[in-house]
Amino acid sequence: MARTVVVRSARLPGRTLDILAELRGMYRDMVELLVQYAVENEMTSFMLLKAEKYGELRSMHPELPSHYAYTACQDAATRSKSFLRSRRRGRAKGRYPEVRRISMWLDDHLWRPDGLTAIRISTHRGWVKVELEPSRQYWRYLNGGWSLRPEARIRLDPVEDRLIVYLTFEREVEEYEPKGFVSVDVNEDNVTALVDGAAYLLRTDMKEMTLGYDYRRRRIMERNSGSRRAMRKVIRKSGYRRRKEDVRRKAARIIVGAAAERGYGIALERLGKRPNENMIRDVGNPQLRYRIFQAAFKGIQREIEEEAMELGVPVVHVNPKNTSRMCPIHRAPIVYDGSRVGKCSEGGESWHRDVAATWNILRRALGGDGSAAPSPLGPSLDGRPMPLASTGAHDPTVIARIRGRGASPCRRSPRFRAV
Ligand SMILES: [Zn+2]
Repeated sequence: MARTVVVRSARLPGRTLDILAELRGMYRDMVELLVQYAVENEMTSFMLLKAEKYGELRSMHPELPSHYAYTACQDAATRSKSFLRSRRRGRAKGRYPEVRRISMWLDDHLWRPDGLTAIRISTHRGWVKVELEPSRQYWRYLNGGWSLRPEARIRLDPVEDRLIVYLTFEREVEEYEPKGFVSVDVNEDNVTALVDGAAYLLRTDMKEMTLGYDYRRRRIMERNSGSRRAMRKVIRKSGYRRRKEDVRRKAARIIVGAAAERGYGIALERLGKRPNENMIRDVGNPQLRYRIFQAAFKGIQREIEEEAMELGVPVVHVNPKNTSRMCPIHRAPIVYDGSRVGKCSEGGESWHRDVAATWNILRRALGGDGSAAPSPLGPSLDGRPMPLASTGAHDPTVIARIRGRGASPCRRSPRFRAV
């Protein structure tokens, strides 16, 4: 498993900045030449490109360390490949791909770490030292048993006078055999998790945020006469995305942590159509509405999957059909009259729809869904499905209202405890 971590450098001294800007110029020359040649000859193989162009590249910039000729070929081969692919699909603009954003690819001859907070880069003026400003993420990987891969990419940020360094960390992670499952139901405004028979509801307000996003998006589009670029920029500045990612990450961390602690796996719905879900009515266009929410669901699921992968927690996906509409005990329809709590049409007991869903997801994960051959039930089914008590509060335990960074006074991560 590999992860890319972005680290910024400290402000670069003038001389270093000049050298790196020159280096980028030469690298750009090489990549432009290569991309043009590769596209003209429909060549996507790095090896072929190198075989045919290496000599020319070397004589073009003899002062550059020779390995830049290799990495420029790799870079160009990747660019040409994707350009040729989109041209085949009729989506390419222009005759050649535009080499606009340059990040220089470095192999193990072209850079090396210098302690933990600096790197050295091989340039036409010799080795140049660049001080880093390591991020929290960088330390997390470095201290978490991950090893640094020998290749890296660097990009010059001319506005900030910094270097952006893309480092790749890797680690072997083995999945364990799950002793049970934490089943998870992702909804518009919450994520519900069933842990050892107790349902927990994590409020995410994805609904609120996604809607806010859509409105803002439309307003910005109107103001900028429909420019997508301007829109993206404004949204990036607004911190909306960071807040959303923060919420997702927190929810994922809590859920995956609960599974890892117990040696359980995670059971999720396989995402597909959810046509009957009572989604947001305020967004007029039903297609857009559907797309927005699919994206939001996927985002949170992906976050859970990634977090699980890092900890070696196995993930299973189950059929999402009717998970919230069927009684997990009687397998009869649950009747809802407009609220999130409904009654079982057979037993008459009450169900919160998200809780019912988690029980059904769990059952499917364990293979005891009637259709599949029953498998031995794990310890998580020792507790039978628990409908809401007739006198009890009609809600699962709300353990946390998850908000984006800075929005909530509560800083501690809530944890699951068996009830
Ligand atoms: Zn029932």
